[in-house]
Amino acid sequence: MNTTTRPDEAAALASAGATPAGHFDVLIAGAGISGVGGAYHLQQQCPGTRFVVLDAQDGYGGTWRTHRYPGIRSDSDLYTFGYRFKPWLGAPIATAAEILKYMGEVIDDNALAPHIRYRHRIDAASWSGAERRWTLQVTRLDTGERLLFTAGFLWMCQGYYRHTEGYTPEWPGMDQFGGRIVHPQTWPEDIDLAGKRVVVIGSGATAATLVPAIADRCAHVTMLQRSPTYFVTGRNANQLADTLRELDIDPMWIHEIVRRKILFDQAAVARRSFSEPDKLKAELLAGVKAFLGDSVDIERHFTPRYRPWRQRIAFIPDGDLFRAIREGKASMATDEIAQFDAGGIVLKSGDRLDADVVVTATGFHLNVLGDIAFEIDGRPLDFAQTVSWRGTMFTGVPNLAWVFGYFRASWTLRADLIADLVCRLLQTMKARGATVVEPQLRPEDADMPLMPWVDPENFNPGYLMRGLHLLPQQGERMPWRHSQDYWTEKDELPQASLDDGALRFS
Ligand SMILES: Cc1cc2nc3c(=O)[nH]c(=O)nc-3n(C[C@H](O)[C@H](O)[C@H](O)COP(=O)(O)OP(=O)(O)OC[C@H]3O[C@@H](n4cnc5c(N)ncnc54)[C@H](O)[C@@H]3O)c2cc1C
Repeated sequence: MNTTTRPDEAAALASAGATPAGHFDVLIAGAGISGVGGAYHLQQQCPGTRFVVLDAQDGYGGTWRTHRYPGIRSDSDLYTFGYRFKPWLGAPIATAAEILKYMGEVIDDNALAPHIRYRHRIDAASWSGAERRWTLQVTRLDTGERLLFTAGFLWMCQGYYRHTEGYTPEWPGMDQFGGRIVHPQTWPEDIDLAGKRVVVIGSGATAATLVPAIADRCAHVTMLQRSPTYFVTGRNANQLADTLRELDIDPMWIHEIVRRKILFDQAAVARRSFSEPDKLKAELLAGVKAFLGDSVDIERHFTPRYRPWRQRIAFIPDGDLFRAIREGKASMATDEIAQFDAGGIVLKSGDRLDADVVVTATGFHLNVLGDIAFEIDGRPLDFAQTVSWRGTMFTGVPNLAWVFGYFRASWTLRADLIADLVCRLLQTMKARGATVVEPQLRPEDADMPLMPWVDPENFNPGYLMRGLHLLPQQGERMPWRHSQDYWTEKDELPQASLDDGALRFS
């Protein structure tokens, strides 16, 4: 580690009670799937770069370490949620433990561990144009010590939601409820559901995972949703992968072939969601009906009001949610909450759900840039006032890239693409002797209409809509747009020009 903090600076820091912790060419914020992937790519593509990865948690994994509720699993297949460089060998849908094991192998195989520091929370980051670098205020959560890191470039892999707490709406009467209210993101280790009546509020992937996982152990579980979601079901297996494995094909080839096949099939679904939404909808509903028959009102509980693909379509491996419903261990309620009372939840229809435990699978607090207080040359950064360059860098914010993955395709597909882009950018800076790169609107972009980070008409889950005003804007044309579309970006990003005047190198 190279400590290049100057003596006068060190004195100032010491007097402020913070210990200088070194200077790095690149500082990666977050050791989730994006940060660990970023570290791998940096090491491979920019050898010799001095870098450090900081994470507030006590280990790697991000999302897959934070969430510990029963049944926690991916809803993407791991061929595409896994990295492009490390073959996935298991069943397509994976548990959090399996994902952590996979990431652990990436860390071990590539000797990344010495670069990662856990229990390091980044509290503030300030850019100095004069010093041409970032200074980060960091708290060591195990000792309370305050540290100062400096870095040439910040690679923000902190995800998009607050890890310390989930989002729970306020409903009248919650304080009178006699049972326990639990958010899946902070699942209590001591909770015993045996013999309990449980209501799970929500109908996203989390609720759909939790309900079958607890159905056998509680008295009854009800999934309470305001409105239905699309589900697709199938075996948790990949026929093509299994066949290729029988033929003893190289695992790296299998990984690549199966990724291409899955992405090919997903592209077809995405196209059909626009070209023949009604037919696609009918097929998805037929899949549900095949499991549930006439035992459940499919129209009421499983027929969404929006066209397919506007939100991620949750995959139900082996139909486990539907099996729990068919066996009478779980049931659906599609209604709105009027209020809680001592014994449960009163619904707007007048019905009520008696409950001992209520699980609020109601989503996340969107957090932008990891709740870190950012400053540029002494001025607080209002991220919402910036315009994004290809959904990864931001006008007026030098030497910083944010990995924001795909929502409908696997997040990691974009994390890999952005990693290539950042590495290309770092190589270009080195080749040109530049130490600063900053996106800036060109004269021809001055009057360009600006739009929200995502188009609510196209994709609109609750946590994004609640936080949209906090996110950077995008322009109406390249390179100020990002499509959230893997099939476009896989060709676009590797070709992205660094010389069209939108990036200023100095
Ligand atoms: C339950 C659940 C299931 C999901 N399933 C899928 C799926 O199947 N497929 C899919 O594509 N996506 C899924 N997602 C979305 C998922 O979050 C992303 O795909 C992916 O895991 C995000 O990885 P990341 O590394 O970018 O961020 P995260 O996993 O959010 O990790 C960010 C890390 O940064 C750290 N951090 C944040 N702020 C700071 C700070 N100030 N200082 C220090 N450290 C900080 C956090 O502690 C965390 O460890 C799921 C999300 C959830 C919540």
